Amino acid sequence: MSWEMVAGVEVHVELATKTKVFCGCANAFGAEPNTFICPVCTGMPGALPTLNRQVVEYALRAGLALGCDIAPQTAFDRKNYFYPDLPKAYQISQLSLPICQNGSLEIETKQGTKQIRIRQIHIEEDTGKLMHHPTQPYTLVDFNRCGVPLLEIVSQPDISDADEAIAYLENLREILLFLGVSDCKMQEGSLRVDLNVSVRRQGSKEPSVPTELKNINSFQAVGRAIRWEAARQIQVLEAGGKIQRETRRWDDANNRGIVLRSKEEAEQYRYMPEPDLPVLVIDHGWIERVQRELPELPREKRIRYQKEMGISHQQACTLTGSPQMAALFEQTAALCRNPREAAHLIAGEVARLCTETATRPEDLKVDAEKLAALADMIDSGRINRTVGKEVAERIFRLNVDPETYVAEHGLAMVSDPNVVEAAVRRVLREQTKSVADYRNGKERAFGYLVGQVMKSLKGKGDPALVHRVLHQLLDG
Ligand SMILES: [Zn+2]
Repeated sequence: MSWEMVAGVEVHVELATKTKVFCGCANAFGAEPNTFICPVCTGMPGALPTLNRQVVEYALRAGLALGCDIAPQTAFDRKNYFYPDLPKAYQISQLSLPICQNGSLEIETKQGTKQIRIRQIHIEEDTGKLMHHPTQPYTLVDFNRCGVPLLEIVSQPDISDADEAIAYLENLREILLFLGVSDCKMQEGSLRVDLNVSVRRQGSKEPSVPTELKNINSFQAVGRAIRWEAARQIQVLEAGGKIQRETRRWDDANNRGIVLRSKEEAEQYRYMPEPDLPVLVIDHGWIERVQRELPELPREKRIRYQKEMGISHQQACTLTGSPQMAALFEQTAALCRNPREAAHLIAGEVARLCTETATRPEDLKVDAEKLAALADMIDSGRINRTVGKEVAERIFRLNVDPETYVAEHGLAMVSDPNVVEAAVRRVLREQTKSVADYRNGKERAFGYLVGQVMKSLKGKGDPALVHRVLHQLLDG
């Protein structure tokens, strides 16, 4: 009898606010240890938290974009536990009245679209960071991360395989990036993923006891971890064993989950209402304003690009690869005559150059006006596409002016029929074998001849004219 996976995902995202959630310390990654700290975030006696309004704003943005109900009243709770990176010995979180509930996220699967329900989104504070000395028997602690605002986004156990888990995470990350609430960098810990995995026999309603998997460093590792854990549980159950409720640390290098501890129950944290923060009332006007100001999401952009601008699905996906890429495309498209030409340049050349030069989206700085001018030069036939690619690369790397560059390098398209005809005749005289091949029905020889004519025109020939003249002289 076959088995099916029942998995849920918990995502922690650090919010990209200027300051921390309960104090005025800067929220920044990579600073000297213990430089962005104060009595509040280091848990000094008597220091009182003040909620950062921007954190609530970002939580509302995420909640509304994910179709959640917003709690009219939300409250904070203390989650008590002792650990050296948590100086207060409790974390301020939300248990009984989380800010957002009952959302969903649509993903594409092999069987079509599927809704993954989101149980809740709540606000909490991050902990500090322990730095274990690699050889000496001591550990240092950096409290800069203490009090960095987090959203914990908890899905329902609606995920049935590794691909769905990855699709869910990719979609979620994309939405959060376009909302501007987090930079979602897994390598810097601003997006962290925990998995809850169980299995059940096909047709059964009762899944096994879920285990939790932590410390997963990439979406690919999520796929490996979830597959490994489901396989492990099936093996245990088929051998007549029982699944223990436990937390495992994912060791990606060795492709296995290592038991960390038996999983805590909520009671073990002795949750209690946070007495230093009042219940937060979120009035209807606030929710409506955030809803109204929600930016266009990547999925909506893709649909609009295809419908309104006639751009292909594949290009639309590339153009929405990051908010910066989408912004560059929209600015360029607005400035040029034909948005499809802008799409060719950006989804083709700019995206390729970003990969080639390992340019991060936040470092993408290409002048939209220059790209638009280039798009118009291609669209009006002043230069051909091959030359356009070369100029796009110069704009990307050196910020050249396309008009000047084309003039200085003599790259204008050769559309003079006499010049093109002379080039074609020359090539036909020289390439007797290809001409014979073509006349004997080898279609591919035609492409080769086009290439030779273009080469003799230094890549600047008008492709349509070259094709026409070649056909006339070969077939006529
Ligand atoms: Zn502070």
